[in-house]
This record gives sequence, C-alpha cells and structure tokens, in this order.
Amino acid sequence: MKKFGQIFFLGLMLVFSLNLFGGRDKVFKVETVASPPGERANSFYLGNRAPLLPSPLVKLPVGQVEPRGWLLSQLQLMREGLTGRLPEVSRFLGPDSGWLTLKGKGWEEMPYWLRGYGDLAYLLKDPEMIAAARKWVEAILRSQQPDGYFGPVDNRENNDLWPNMLALTCLQSYYEFSSDQRVLEFMKKYFRYQLSLPEGSLFPGSWQKLRGGENLASVYWLYNRLGEEWLLELAEKIYRRTADWESPILTPERDRNLEESSFYHGVNIAMGFRYPGLYYQQKKDPRLLQAVENNYRLMMDHYGQQPGGMFGADENIRPGYNDPRQGAETCTMVEFMNSFESLLKITGNPVYADRCEEIAFNSLPAALTPDLKALHYLTAPNLISCDSSGEHDFQNSGTLLSYDPWKYRCCQHNVAFGWPYFVEHLFLATADDGVAICLYAPSSVTIKAGKQGEAVRLIEDTDYPFGERVRATVYTEKPVDFPLYLRVPAWAEKTWLSVNGLNQAEVNQPGKFIRIEKTWKNGDQVEIEFAAPVKVVFWEAVGRAASVRRGPLWYSLEIKEEWKKVGGTEEWPAWEVLPASPWNYALLLPDNKPEEQIKLIAKKGPSYQPFSLERAPIILEALAKRLPGWKAEGKMVGKMPISPINSEEQAEKIRMIPMGCARLRISCFPWIRFK
Ligand SMILES: [Zn+2]
Repeated sequence: MKKFGQIFFLGLMLVFSLNLFGGRDKVFKVETVASPPGERANSFYLGNRAPLLPSPLVKLPVGQVEPRGWLLSQLQLMREGLTGRLPEVSRFLGPDSGWLTLKGKGWEEMPYWLRGYGDLAYLLKDPEMIAAARKWVEAILRSQQPDGYFGPVDNRENNDLWPNMLALTCLQSYYEFSSDQRVLEFMKKYFRYQLSLPEGSLFPGSWQKLRGGENLASVYWLYNRLGEEWLLELAEKIYRRTADWESPILTPERDRNLEESSFYHGVNIAMGFRYPGLYYQQKKDPRLLQAVENNYRLMMDHYGQQPGGMFGADENIRPGYNDPRQGAETCTMVEFMNSFESLLKITGNPVYADRCEEIAFNSLPAALTPDLKALHYLTAPNLISCDSSGEHDFQNSGTLLSYDPWKYRCCQHNVAFGWPYFVEHLFLATADDGVAICLYAPSSVTIKAGKQGEAVRLIEDTDYPFGERVRATVYTEKPVDFPLYLRVPAWAEKTWLSVNGLNQAEVNQPGKFIRIEKTWKNGDQVEIEFAAPVKVVFWEAVGRAASVRRGPLWYSLEIKEEWKKVGGTEEWPAWEVLPASPWNYALLLPDNKPEEQIKLIAKKGPSYQPFSLERAPIILEALAKRLPGWKAEGKMVGKMPISPINSEEQAEKIRMIPMGCARLRISCFPWIRFK
C-alpha cells in the first residue's frame, strides 16, 4: 500500500473528518468503535424484536453473501466431496431413514448434514442440490403430528427432542431462502407442543438437556418473525430446563458428579458455553455475558493452551490431558465456530470474529483431506501420524485419525455447516443501517443500506488469510449514505486504511471496528491492510512450549506426508497419512526478540485449494535442532518436553507452513535458548 498523506489515529474513540483534497468527496468521518450500536434495530433485516435486546449485527438471508476465490472453491469441493455426495456413503441418509419413513430410526445425523447441505445448496444456487435438500425438508414438514410433534417416532418414544433442534435450523435456512410460510406455522405448532409439555418432561436428561440452547435460538428466531409473546414464555421454560452453563464448568464438585460428566464432552462445551449469551437477549443481565466469557477462559486456560483456537477434548476434557497432542473432534470445531458467530451477532464484539477465523483457517481445514472427500474424528496441533492403529492415548479407542469417509458417524455429517455458516457471517447488517465486514475472505454481498434501503453491492478482493490486504469496492446506482464497518483483528497491532487511494490513516486500535460514514458512490474503494509480523507465543502451562503465528495463521513444521490407501472403495478411499521426514525438532530462540530467528521465505496467492502441503501459500524458515529424546509413544507424539531444553545435534533450517495446510504437524515446539 502506498503511503502518502498519512494521518495517525491516537487514543480511544478518535472522531475526525478527513479532507480529501482532490478527491470526489469533500468530507467523511472515520472513527473506531468497540462494536456497532445496539440501541435500535436495522430497518431492513430482521434482528431481535422488543422486548429482546436489539441485535447490533444481523445476518442476511442465506445467499446474499457470496463466496469468491479460495472460499468459493471450498464450497465447490464440498459439493464434489463428502458433503455433496454423503448419501453415497452414509447409512443414515438412505430411503430407510426414519426422517423419510417416519418409522424406525432417525436421529441427529440427517439434520446435522442437512443444515450444512441445504445452506451449501442455497449458497451455490445449485438447482439439483436445492431439490435434494427440499426432499428432506418436505419430509420434516410432512412428519408433523396433530399435537405438533414431528420427526421419527423413535425419538418420541425416547422423549428425545435433540435431533428436532437441528431440524428446526434446517427449516429456518429453508424459510430464509424460500419464504415458504408453512415453516412458520409448523414451528408455531411444534413450540405450542413444547409449551404444553409438563415441566419435567421437557429435556429430562442427556444430550437434549445439555444442548437445549439450540432450541432456545429457534424460539427467538420465530418470535422475531411472529411477535407472539407466548414464545418468550416458552423461551424461559427452555432455558430453565437446559443444563446450567452459567456456573463455572470446571469445579471439583462437577468432577465428582458422574451425572454431569457430559458437561465435559468437547462438543457439548463448544455449544453450551454460549447459552447464557443467548438468554442475555431476553434477560438483559450482563452477568450472563460474563458467564460465557468466564467459562470460555476457564476452558482455554486449562485445555486450550495451543494454537488453532481449539481445546483438547478427545471426547471429554480430562484433568492432566492438556498437551497439544490431545485432539479436538471435528464436530467441536464447527460448533465452536457457530457459537462465536452467534455471539458476534448478539454482542457486536469483534473478538468473536477473531475466534471464529482462528478455527476456520487453522484447525478445520486439516480435519479433512484437501479434496474434502474424507475426514477424521480428531485433529491436534501436534499430530505425527494419521493412522488407523489406535495406538494413542485418547479417551476414545479405535480409529480416530485416519481419513475415512466411512468411519466417523457424527463428524462427517456435522462438518457440512462449517464453511457455509462462515460464508453467511462475512458481511452482516448493522443496527444503524450500515454494513459490517466481520470475517475476511474473498466474497461479495448485496445489501440494503442507508436511510432508504438502497441495494448496494460490495465486492471484497483479498487473499486473506494468506494476504493482509483487503479491498472493498462499492457498486451502487446512486450515491448512498451509510456507515461501513471494518473489523480490526486483535492481532493487528497496526492497520492502514485508505479510501479511494487518496488518503491513508494508520489505525492502532486492534480488536475494534473502523467505522466510515460517507456518501458512497459507484466505484468507491476502501483498502485496509494489516501489519502481520511473525510472532512467537509461549504456552506457560504446557512446558513453556512455543508456537509461531503471523497474522491470522499459525505455523507448523513442514512434515513430508506419505499417503497410503487403507480401505474404502475406489471412489471413496480411506487414507492413512504417515510421516516421511523427522518431526522432533526444538526451535532455536534467542531471549530477546525470538521472532527475528524466523524468516518469511515464500508467499504467493492462494490456489484453488490452498490448504494442502504442496500448495501452502506461505512458507517460513526457522532454525532448529533435533531432540533425540523426544520420541513417539506408540503412534502418538511424545508429551511436550519442558523448555528451554538442550540438544547436542547440529542446527538445521526447517520450513514451516500454515497449520491448516498440514495434515501432519508440530505447531507447539520445545525450544533451545539461542545465544
Ligand atoms: Zn463428531
């Protein structure tokens, strides 16, 4: 970015006007804000209806945000891969599914898949996929009984409303896409049924009790559309009957209480911790938001001392198992992202966008093969063999690491909504009738903005997260006044902003939104660029191990991958990925400015599928020594040695690639004091 006419932002909440001499505009206003305002509602998109707290950020109907570039190719690969063709391999999506026959079994798998598959179809505007999604939607609608209950009868016999919570979200997306009024009537009837249930019969236990907040979100969704007050009464009942996610999740009392042990399941935590935040919209007590944050911190401080935004829960979190070799389930990743997307809209706080991106760019891609045709159950920051031996110290036994389209029941269905939901939260409408760019990736949006709700199109050109510059171009028939918000990630200590290339302001306000209030004309361009120096982060709780980050990406040792077919079919093979180069390195780091030992040696634009070893767009180089004492335990990487450590080996240059490109990885390193 060229630097002329620099204007520096200093201090908090600086509000000033920039005079663009020679520009097309005389004056516009730039400021930084903690979040978009939350006092009123957007005039054109449905957020919360009173008495619920107004939503500072509102999602647009599915399809209005369109992915481009590498993000579009993720969706295209999904269509050709596991998500698009899952009925070919999943025994849960056949004609005997209880969701179609209304007899027999049909639990979470189908709606797990459909909420992603449906949104993928709407985003790609693919007529065949839309028709295929419609088949399942119609079956759900058809299944409603006179008292309002719906879904496979087995679930009713088990008094289990959990799978229906997922089915409701499928219907909501379908409604936003189609405006099919039957959805509103259907949901109303079902919620009447839930309201009529005796208190003790609603979520008596198990998953539904721990995950009741999903149901709560759907009740608010319908309330915002219908405004019928009994829905808020039901919301109270649902929150009352949902497990307590307000109290600290890590306590000795809960440790001893076996009944509550499913609090420790990674997926439950990734979903449940946000529920007080959902209820905050109704209760308006800031302590509920504090509870969300407290539990997030508790989790991350104990089990999330690792790069990639996840925490170690290779089924459940377990005291003493916080090493970066403990994995996170793929379901946990997409549910955690979903929770952050939801909290972003409720609070307007950009930290939730940071957390969502960290998972999307660093952890999620490595959970699947680059062709998105197979996935595994667990992904860990330190993972040296994706095999099917079962020789590892995870809570679950058996095959958890090989990439296998046939093996992993929940994850291969649930992974479907990761990228589609991410796309839908790139741009959000703001309460002051503006536009917020919340997550960064190549994309475009058509959105109503300004006083009159003019349709405006914005195209976002960027290589992000593989590049640090974002250019947004505005297309509009006539000039429109509206505020444009751009998120400044918390890692961006320096940000440069320019409008129509004429001015440049340096904004040192990480973790905020830049708000530009302007009369936007056709072709106006905003450029934002983030400084992304290499950083070394130390994990005190994990032997003071070191990780390397640069901007939104974390880096892993480049380990050669040997891909071995281990079953499946010609069309849907299962793979082991085995290490074909050494992994047991310690970084050489000086006490002072450790990042200076790490050099950027290659950087290029992302390819169609950048998340692979061969096509890693960015390569770093570091100095390291082998640590002969750091050995594998079975097929698992040995526990992290305590740093600083010594080694008599020769110093070597090692290459590091983005974590999301590495199926085998070391992204937490022991280190040697470099003198
Ligand atoms: Zn799973």
